Amino acid sequence: MSDRPVASLSLDLDNLWAYRRTHGDPDWARMPSFLPTAVPRLLEVFGEHRVRPTVFVVGADAEREDGAKAVAAITAAGCEVANHSHGHEPRLHRYSRARLDEELGRTEEAIVAAGAPRPLGFRGPGYSVSSALLAALVDRGYTYDASTLPTWIGPLARRHHNRGTRAGASESRDELFGGVGRVWAPNTAYRWRVGSHTGLAELPVTTMPLARVPVHGAYLLHLHQASPRLARAYFASALRLCRALGVAPSLLLHPTDVLGGADAPGMEFFPGMAVPTGEKVALLGWVLAELGRHFEVVGTGEHLRRGGVPRRVRDARLAERGW
Ligand SMILES: [Zn+2]
Repeated sequence: MSDRPVASLSLDLDNLWAYRRTHGDPDWARMPSFLPTAVPRLLEVFGEHRVRPTVFVVGADAEREDGAKAVAAITAAGCEVANHSHGHEPRLHRYSRARLDEELGRTEEAIVAAGAPRPLGFRGPGYSVSSALLAALVDRGYTYDASTLPTWIGPLARRHHNRGTRAGASESRDELFGGVGRVWAPNTAYRWRVGSHTGLAELPVTTMPLARVPVHGAYLLHLHQASPRLARAYFASALRLCRALGVAPSLLLHPTDVLGGADAPGMEFFPGMAVPTGEKVALLGWVLAELGRHFEVVGTGEHLRRGGVPRRVRDARLAERGW
């Protein structure tokens, strides 16, 4: 057993079609996929650094041949497979209970059919979460949700997520306020109270302690484009703060962390896509090494098992506001 504190890694397996749809590109309906390029590359980097992140898989992909192959390879590599919704619709928090059950159920079936155990963890696309969703997770036997990003730049993060679309203009006030409210959301694990049930854990994606700004993926690559040294200094200070404040970091990765422009045609609008593949792989390797130097790195499900039952409990009715 290692005496280093625990940190976790997860990967949201967002596919090319989902980014293109969010961008408003009608060609998304052909469901273009970069999984055959991204998944082997990611698994190679994970293998080199001996980490097994939890992979949040989209049901619509797991139902297809390349997605099912990806799920099988991820499972064979010893990674936990979790649920990232069926359609990767960032407005999931507006879905009715019936639609949420369909989203969850179809994805569970596809994941199991592809050879992975039934998922116990869920992350909403675009950090979407609602009390109806949490109730559905409880009823379906999930042990944790990982949909929150406790940051004050919620509206900005959403715009970043929906970059290039006109969604920003139609953003409703409640979502905007929800985004700002999330600055008060905890940066470490807690439990949701759903009716009388308090067993569903929440593992937030860690943001920079105190400053509450994201430290992962596209944000880091954005800084890297300005200055590789700045990006590394920024990430190193985030880890230093986590250690100083006793925050067990849970960091998020995306396929775009290892894909160059040529691997993802039609995604030139997305931040960081001009960074060459080799540079991206090197930065990810550095991030994993830095994390592994100070922490024992596990998946999100394992992170929660190691941490024991979180003491803090929050009412699920506050989910829409994040706190
Ligand atoms: Zn996603």
